[in-house]
Amino acid sequence: MESEFLHWLRPRLSSHPQLRLGPGDDAAVLRLADRADVVITTDLISDGTDFHYPGCCPRRIGHKALAINLSDLAAMAATPLAVVVTLLLPRIGALGLAQELYLGMIPLAKRFGICIAGGDVNTWDGALAISVTAIGQTTSRDILRRDQARPGDAIIVTGAFGGSILKRHLDVEPRCREALYLNEHYQLHAGLDCSDGLAKDLWRLCQASSVGVILHQQQIPIHDDAQQLAQQTGKTAHEHALGDGEDFELILAVPQDTATRLISEQPLINQLGVPVKLTQIGECIATPEFWIEDESGKLTLQPPLGYEH
Ligand SMILES: [Mg+2]
Repeated sequence: MESEFLHWLRPRLSSHPQLRLGPGDDAAVLRLADRADVVITTDLISDGTDFHYPGCCPRRIGHKALAINLSDLAAMAATPLAVVVTLLLPRIGALGLAQELYLGMIPLAKRFGICIAGGDVNTWDGALAISVTAIGQTTSRDILRRDQARPGDAIIVTGAFGGSILKRHLDVEPRCREALYLNEHYQLHAGLDCSDGLAKDLWRLCQASSVGVILHQQQIPIHDDAQQLAQQTGKTAHEHALGDGEDFELILAVPQDTATRLISEQPLINQLGVPVKLTQIGECIATPEFWIEDESGKLTLQPPLGYEH
């Protein structure tokens, strides 16, 4: 199956100026830009935990496996360069499934200008699992870490939150261009991508930076999916926006004057031409506490352990 699959795959992979040697030898060789550091991240997704196969389209699963890794490179403000992909496939229908997964990955790889540098495929009696390792490189503006937020920083987010389970958790749109643009043109102190829920990931940023936060509940951008899901679950749309996860938006800590510029200039819409709004949802404070301010201005202290789902 493997040689048949590689025979099918090779002509579908595009070349890349930094890929010196692609699939076919014992290892791939990448050439890095001068003075760039390598940024590496990996993620494993599996049937039953991250998706349900059969039941969802394998192309969308392939897309997601690649996109969540690119989202982690975006979170570091690194330029995506290459990925290696490992597929562990159920024995029955393995070849067709591998092809469909790649047909979900290849268009995304092309769109982000990265190469699929190599990988492995194997079959077994268990469920489908996909591991993707993404390789990026730093820009002259260096990386964006999660441990450099300071008291007084504004918290800015891209896009809207909540209800991703309804459909878009498979159609992840990594914010790579957005992160690179913002990091190049604005002073960003810290950032990460929101994979496990706005509250939980924001708290991770705070803990890494030894700061706390006041979150303005009314300013949290709520996705239409969160509104829709709230009608089915009995939870509020705000609760979905804070807790759901798999939004893959960026959470950034920036100086307040930068935040004011970002909000008024809306560079993602006006400069990059992507329909992604930036919103300020809170501020960092010196004490390591998580406060939520409701619509009446009342502050409630959140127990941090409440965000360990
Ligand atoms: Mg991440």
